[in-house]
Amino acid sequence: MNLAQLLVRAARVHPDRPAVLLGDQPQLTYRELAARTARLAGHLRDGLGLQPGDRVAIYMSNHVAYLEVLYAAWWAGLVVVPVNAKLHPREVEFILGDAGAAVLFVSDDLAVDLQPLLGSLPALRQVHTPGEPAYETALAAPALAPTHRTPDDLAWLFYTSGTTGRPKGVMQTHRNLYAMTSCYFIDVDEVHAGDAIVYAAPMSHGAGLYNFAFVARAARHIVPLSGGFDPAELVALSRSVGRLCLFAAPTMVKRLVEHIAASGASADGFKTLVYGGGPMYVEDIQAALSTMGPRFVQIYGQGESPMTITALARETLDDRRHPRWAERIASVGVAQTLVEVRVAGPDGQTLPSGETGEVVVRGEAVMAGYWHNPEATRQALRDGWLWTGDMGAIDTDGYLTLKDRSKDVIISGGSNIYPREVEEVLLRHPGVREVSVIGQPDPEWGEVVVAVVAGTAVTAEALDDLCLEHIARFKRPKRYHFVAELPKNNYGKVLKTALRDMLHQGEPPC
Ligand code: AMP
Repeated sequence: MNLAQLLVRAARVHPDRPAVLLGDQPQLTYRELAARTARLAGHLRDGLGLQPGDRVAIYMSNHVAYLEVLYAAWWAGLVVVPVNAKLHPREVEFILGDAGAAVLFVSDDLAVDLQPLLGSLPALRQVHTPGEPAYETALAAPALAPTHRTPDDLAWLFYTSGTTGRPKGVMQTHRNLYAMTSCYFIDVDEVHAGDAIVYAAPMSHGAGLYNFAFVARAARHIVPLSGGFDPAELVALSRSVGRLCLFAAPTMVKRLVEHIAASGASADGFKTLVYGGGPMYVEDIQAALSTMGPRFVQIYGQGESPMTITALARETLDDRRHPRWAERIASVGVAQTLVEVRVAGPDGQTLPSGETGEVVVRGEAVMAGYWHNPEATRQALRDGWLWTGDMGAIDTDGYLTLKDRSKDVIISGGSNIYPREVEEVLLRHPGVREVSVIGQPDPEWGEVVVAVVAGTAVTAEALDDLCLEHIARFKRPKRYHFVAELPKNNYGKVLKTALRDMLHQGEPPC
């Protein structure tokens, strides 16, 4: 079952509905989107001679042509390799080579810097830039009939963000992405015809993965004029377009909420903000709920089980009277419907409720493995379970609370310390904007707790007092480093490895 069938169906049943908008301006109806897709697919297969299973790389900023390129590739039976537009050209070169991409679509803002590196890619046969004459010529090719794909055929090679080492290509199949989309409807949100998804985060990542639910319902897709995240622009779109839905990283949610609180703007034009991809601190989700109301759903996923491990429902976030509300909003919710989630000890045995172990997942959304990397696949997929590398505990009601990545746990004097717990306490200080807690090697304790803090008007003494008030003494940071910004990767995730390296070398962290 080819994902392209979602578009075939939407265009047949609702041909005149607006499909793609640039800002609040309609660009393509579903009929037009499907027709362009079928012709571009014709170019890829009949014009270029690509075969089903060949890889099509997309290195584009968010763009009105993004969806037609994705769907043209699937329509033609090909595999997409969306690459984060913020990556360095050298990193892109690695991904294109690793994937053996035969065709590359690159947006005009990124083409120039990449051009000199393309000569080293023998598999690459053609490069297209949407909007340029050659791209329009490709769109004049005779339309292709959609290619049949089985559920286990590869659809999307999703390169991990690589906070450590080289990125790996996660093999997501048509089945995985249909399962993710079904879970969106069951566990995350309903989608109605008048809804609009706005791509405020990169379409190469989670935001783009959520396109399917909106194509399935023939709803609108908005590419913001800024191409990315701009709180004022989102508020303006919420007024002019309305019923906005978006996927946002916690840092984006925080900035949008701060903007709305400061400007006094109404949140009425926002329907749903799905957040995930990194920890959302309790203080921040409370502020978000107070400012914008019950518009939030949390998801926990990873490329290896895209967007689909657990979800924390809107109703749960809104149920302030529930005796365990405070715990629940600090959790990532319950297993999504088409996956099983448990917490395992190193031997793979399920741990009792409340005990911390590694989160393992099995089910329809779990990847087929890593591209051309059987060793990494064997490590991640064991006895049919995906080992996520995340540590967590499940309570008696099935709510999973994440602690940290297994490699981020600090072991000091033989005790395990979960950095997230310490970070939650430090963030209560009004002067702390961002914080990251890491372990540093120590001859006496093995490791000691160190906090790297970005903020204003805050002292180590004040933070130490706060810790003494809220957590066990052994968890308190032994040292504080104050910095302007925390180092982050291109997805906005704090690079704990970089922090550790820099502290180790005695350099200031930023
Ligand atoms: P990626 O594969 O790049 O999307 O990164 C996935 C990782 O992000 C997961 O393994 C978690 O460590 C983290 N993550 C994703 N969603 C959440 C969430 N809701 N809360 C905390 N961490 C998350």
